[in-house]
Amino acid sequence: MTPEEFRKYGKQVVDWVADYLSTIEWYPVRSQSQPGEVRAALPAHPPEHGEPFERVLADLENTILPGVTHWQHPSFFAYFPANTSGPGILGDLLSAGLGVQGMVWATSPACTELETLVVDWLAELLGLPDHFRTDARGGGVIQDSASSASLVAVLAALQRASGGKVRADGVAGRYPVYVSSQTHSALEKAARIAGIGANNVRVVDVEPGTLTMDPAHLERLVAEDVAAGAVPALVCATVGTTSTTAVDPVARIGEICRAHGIWLHVDAAYAGVAAVCPELRWLNDGVAEYADSYATNPHKWLLTNFDCDVLWLADRAPMIDALSILPEFLRNSASESGDVIDYRDWQVPLGRRFRALKLWSVIRWYGAEGLRAHIRRGIGLAEEFAVLVRADSRFELREHHPFGLVCFRPLWTGMSADDANEATLAMLERLNDSGALYLSHTKVDGQVLLRMAIGAPSTERSHVVEAWERIRAQLP
Ligand SMILES: *Cc1c(COP(=O)(O)O)cnc(C)c1O
Repeated sequence: MTPEEFRKYGKQVVDWVADYLSTIEWYPVRSQSQPGEVRAALPAHPPEHGEPFERVLADLENTILPGVTHWQHPSFFAYFPANTSGPGILGDLLSAGLGVQGMVWATSPACTELETLVVDWLAELLGLPDHFRTDARGGGVIQDSASSASLVAVLAALQRASGGKVRADGVAGRYPVYVSSQTHSALEKAARIAGIGANNVRVVDVEPGTLTMDPAHLERLVAEDVAAGAVPALVCATVGTTSTTAVDPVARIGEICRAHGIWLHVDAAYAGVAAVCPELRWLNDGVAEYADSYATNPHKWLLTNFDCDVLWLADRAPMIDALSILPEFLRNSASESGDVIDYRDWQVPLGRRFRALKLWSVIRWYGAEGLRAHIRRGIGLAEEFAVLVRADSRFELREHHPFGLVCFRPLWTGMSADDANEATLAMLERLNDSGALYLSHTKVDGQVLLRMAIGAPSTERSHVVEAWERIRAQLP
């Protein structure tokens, strides 16, 4: 494809995306596609001869689109949002256009230095501590996902807990990791990948009602493990759990970590970005004092196209000790001078995309005030939805909803608990099959709850009200 051909098709593609986004409401939110349908509609074998790009666009429209679930639809309420935005999409396009591989500083200085700048900017916007800044001992780095951030945190924690022995000898002995039943499954996955083993993932009780980690139980488990000769490696506290947006008591958990020299990782994948609003800065309570690492996802609720998670460290040294490696082909004078950052030592893969461009574009386009307005709108709509649910005695509202997620359930009077759960799930299926909206569910204390997660920039009050009308129409 010549640059002139690229210009022609590029304009068509941008027009296509603009048309898609402006007509997205007319698609069913959840794809109605059956398993195998998309694949069966496409040629089984690759073309021998190149095809015009128009044919790709035609297949996109006719075959791919029916198999797409429309995450940017204003009535997408199922999972935490995966926000995109004009500047986010354009930043990603520019990154693709430059096609840079930023594994070390020398392979594209701007790729590293812009990333350093934007993660420092974001730390400032969220009111995170100065020691997370890259000009201090810590620093931030863009990861593909919160799962990768958790894995990097676990590897750094293992390095520190073992006094560096794990790097040379592998994991010998027990290095437990502490989570709660509400912690994201990414932590267990990280522990398995790191060689800690699923049996050394200790599940701390949660407080009934709030579903937050019980620090007293954490303390007992740590004491038990230490007495048995284990070396506790990491505790993961969550700010805004995936199921119900519970917020663990970071400071109380941090005190225990401090007393035992345990790494504290704070997973704020969804909710962390809400701290752009000063009235939500309580989200960061305990982080400055105790967190060794902290992660949040601009790719969920901060208008930045997937993938963009930011991981900050209070001290980057254990992570770099765990992950640095220097093959001959990457030796260069800038790295050897020690004056530059090589982000390959801050992540699992070697290569990396120029992801800072999209986050930089987003922050510059919206400004701090635009980002705050976006978060506040989502929270305001969630509050309005909660008011509607609370006013209907046929439903029970979970009163804790500080962000964009509202959990609730129909009461199904006269039914056993199991039958009520079945009825709620059947109702959810009917609603999602309708294509008019998309919700998800969770289970708390044996009860199925519906999850209404608000946060797409296209969602208006009317979509929320219409969703509620459809939900309540399901009840007799
Ligand atoms: C979404 C979420 C994750 C996983 O995020 P990825 O970026 O998809 O890996 C982890 N933790 C919490 C609390 C989440 O909400």
